[in-house]
Amino acid sequence: MKNERLVTKNINPFPPVIITPYQWKLFQKLFRHVFTKNQFYNKKFSDAGIHNVNFLTKIDDYFTLPFTTKHELIDDQKNHLPFGLNASLPEQKYKILRSTSGTTGNFMLLPLSESDYLSTLEVAKEAFLLTGIKRGDKVLDLHPPGSHLNVYGALNLLEALTIPWQIQTPYQLLILMKRSGATVLISSVSRLLQIIQIAGKYKFNLKQLRLRLIITNSEILTPAAHRLIESQFHIPCKEIFAGTEYNVIAYGCYENKDDVTYHHMEKPTIMEIVNDKGNHSDEGEMVLTNLFRYDYPIIRYKTGNHVRLNTKMCHCQCNNFSFNAIGRNDNQIRFQLKNLLPQELFNTIESFKEVKDYRIELRNYLYKEDMIIKIVPGKRFNKTVKNKIFEIFNEKYGLDCRVYIVPGFWYDYTLNKTGKLRDFRDGISVTNVNNDLFGKLIRKIYEFLYFPF
Ligand SMILES: [Zn+2]
Repeated sequence: MKNERLVTKNINPFPPVIITPYQWKLFQKLFRHVFTKNQFYNKKFSDAGIHNVNFLTKIDDYFTLPFTTKHELIDDQKNHLPFGLNASLPEQKYKILRSTSGTTGNFMLLPLSESDYLSTLEVAKEAFLLTGIKRGDKVLDLHPPGSHLNVYGALNLLEALTIPWQIQTPYQLLILMKRSGATVLISSVSRLLQIIQIAGKYKFNLKQLRLRLIITNSEILTPAAHRLIESQFHIPCKEIFAGTEYNVIAYGCYENKDDVTYHHMEKPTIMEIVNDKGNHSDEGEMVLTNLFRYDYPIIRYKTGNHVRLNTKMCHCQCNNFSFNAIGRNDNQIRFQLKNLLPQELFNTIESFKEVKDYRIELRNYLYKEDMIIKIVPGKRFNKTVKNKIFEIFNEKYGLDCRVYIVPGFWYDYTLNKTGKLRDFRDGISVTNVNNDLFGKLIRKIYEFLYFPF
């Protein structure tokens, strides 16, 4: 049953959406439930002209259902405190409350009823089994306590032991790994790179650990970082693709050396790839429907992840729907473990009238991410303004950055000249330079003098 493909609008053997008979059955059940019990979706469906609970008769009907965006859910929560109309149960029936990171001030609460939470754990458990965690493993999860409740729950179901830890330095964590005899490490990529650095500094031999497996999540594990981690620890490193709103949906496969391929776990979610017009496409935004969540449903949810369909059969012979991750669709970038909207940073600097021109440079190295704010001073610019900008970036956004004053004619050839975001996987450059005539002229002269080619 697993290999049957119902949706083949596209004769391509790898269409940008697959709905298996199993998923279809689950979705029909979910639809009926949501249609009758969920005010948020009932209104959304009715606005889209869907008034009948028996609306779904064929799979193509699924593709006429409206998309759901994060903004809609956040607005729904703001207008109907605390959880919004999408929470179909009374407030006290929810057992677990999770939240998206909300660095930009717009976080989303994710209330889970007991049954939704348990199904979330089952899915996470399955993902852990796929990556190779076994019963009896001793697992050290380095994510901040509380933010990954389902990790603890799923490990419990697997009968694996979770090693508790408090706020500890990377060196203390190394000692804890050694003394506890941890066999599996779960961590963000940045944390692992930090640990490797510290181990090098203290001449701590990582091979003396009993670890046999490393699992990363919450940041894309690039092939370069993957190779570095495996060569330092001498054990396999795998990745799980998950999001607070939609749960674990895929796991990384490193059989193809040039890029990470993610294999979608078909059982818990329907995944589609859609372009800007909302049509299915081989490259575009990842859209997900969680098939097991009934009390805070997510149907055709636009995740903001930009992905590309993998049309090659993977060396691992797994024929699940698979894809490569490209970046974020909504211009949001992940930097120093925070989700940032570049426009918001631009607005912050532009609120200072004393700044004539500026540029924010984000540099993504293997070990650390640098932010440099270059400022061309205007009238009345002084040190206080410079310090204020630093303070806002540092305290409000929690960014580790440097602020430089530069002369007005500066021009940097290393930056992306279109002013648009570059793919964050090969280093980011966010640029924003005023393009007034004088500036352009000066730059032309500067270019001619210093880059005469
Ligand atoms: Zn594979």
